Amino acid sequence: MSVVKKDQVLKIDGSTGEGGGQIIRTALALSMLTGTPIEISNIRAGRSKPGLMRQHLMCVQASQQISNAKVSGAHLGSTAFSFAPNDITSGDYTFDIGSAGSTSLVLQTVLPALLFANTTTATLNDPTAATVTIKGGTHNPLAPTTDFLQLAFIPAIAKLGMQVAIELGQTGFAPLGGGEIIATMQPFVRRAGTAPFNLSERGDLVAIKLVASNLNLDYDICKRELSSATACLLESGINESLITSKCAKLTGIGEGNTCYAVVDHQVKGTANVSPNANANANANEVHREVFSLLGERRTSAENMGNRLAGMVKRYLLDSDALVDEYLTDQLLLPLALAGGGEFTARTISRHTETQAWLIQQFLPIDIQISPINANKSLIKIIS
Ligand code: ATP
Repeated sequence: MSVVKKDQVLKIDGSTGEGGGQIIRTALALSMLTGTPIEISNIRAGRSKPGLMRQHLMCVQASQQISNAKVSGAHLGSTAFSFAPNDITSGDYTFDIGSAGSTSLVLQTVLPALLFANTTTATLNDPTAATVTIKGGTHNPLAPTTDFLQLAFIPAIAKLGMQVAIELGQTGFAPLGGGEIIATMQPFVRRAGTAPFNLSERGDLVAIKLVASNLNLDYDICKRELSSATACLLESGINESLITSKCAKLTGIGEGNTCYAVVDHQVKGTANVSPNANANANANEVHREVFSLLGERRTSAENMGNRLAGMVKRYLLDSDALVDEYLTDQLLLPLALAGGGEFTARTISRHTETQAWLIQQFLPIDIQISPINANKSLIKIIS
C-alpha cells in the first residue's frame, strides 16, 4: 500500500453521491491508515433521517479507541464531526453498539486499520493477531449479514492475502439485537509473487447451496423457503445436481429468519498477469457470491424462496460478470490497500461510485470503471 501522509485536514462532504453511512466508515478507515485528519459535514444528507445513528457513532468511537484519535462533534444525530487519528494500536477490542445496529458495518470500519496495524500487543489466541468482538445486530436489512461476511467477503479478501476469521457468537435481528460476532485479523503482509487479483472471467457454475435459518421460529418456515427456492431454480433450467439445501437453527434472543444462496463459479485464467506470476494463477479458483434475504412478517415463506431464487437467476442469467452489486463496493477498499487488481461487476451502484471517489481522495491510486454492456463493467484498480 502506498499512502499519502497528510498534515492538512481533508474536508469531506457527506452528501456526495450515495450520501449515506458508508462515507463515514470509509473515511474513518482511510483517515486512520493514512494519518489524515478529517472533517465530515452533511452526514447522511441523502437519508430521510440524516446525522449519525447509533451504528455510525459506534464506528467513530471504535476508530477513536483503536487510533487514540482526537474527535469533536460526534454524537447521536450530529451532522458534522472532526477526527484526527494517532497511531493505530492492535489488540483485543470489544464494542457494544447498544442497539440492533449492524455489527458487520462496524467491523468493516476497523478491519482495514487492524489488518495493517503493527501488532505488538499479545492477544488471547495468537500473539500477533488482533481480535474484535462486536455486539449488536448480525442480520440487518441493507447491510451485509454475518453469513455474507463469512462466506463471500472473507474468501474474496483472502485472495489478496488478508487473513480474517469471523465467528458468530449470538445471532441478533432487529429490533432486539443481542447478537455478537468475534473477528480475528492476522497482520497483513503483502507477499512477493502473490497472484494478481483478477476476477474478470466467469467460468463454470460449480454449486448453489441454499440455506434457511431461524432464530426461535418454526422450523417449517425454513423448509418451505428452501423448497420454493429450489423449485424456482429448477424451473429455470439449472442442473439439479448443482443445488443443495440446508436448514439451520440459530441461537440468540428475539426471533428472526434469514435465507441465503451461496453461488460458486470457477474463475477463468487471468489476463494482464505480471511476468513473474503464474499465468493460470486464478484458473482453479472459485469465486463465491452470497445473496441474502431477511424474513418479514407479512411475507410468506414461499414468497421469500421465490425472491431468493430471483436474485440468483438475475446474477446467473442476466450477466456473466463475476462480482455482484454488494461485494463490488465492499471490495474496492481492500483492493486499493493491497496493491490493486481487476474484476467484472454485474452492476455499478451509487455506493460503488461514491466509494471509488472517496478512496481516491486519500490514496494515490486510479479506479477505472468501464462499462462492457448493460449488465457488466470492468473495474481496474491501479496503484
Ligand atoms: P445509511 O443508513 O446511511 O443507509 P448505512 O450505514 O446503513 O447507511 P450504507 O451507506 O447504505 O449503510 O451502506 C450499506 C453497505 O451494506 C454497503 O456496503 C452495501 O454493499 C452493503 N449491503 C447492503 N445490502 C446488502 C446485502 N443484502 N448483502 C450484502 N451487503 C449488503
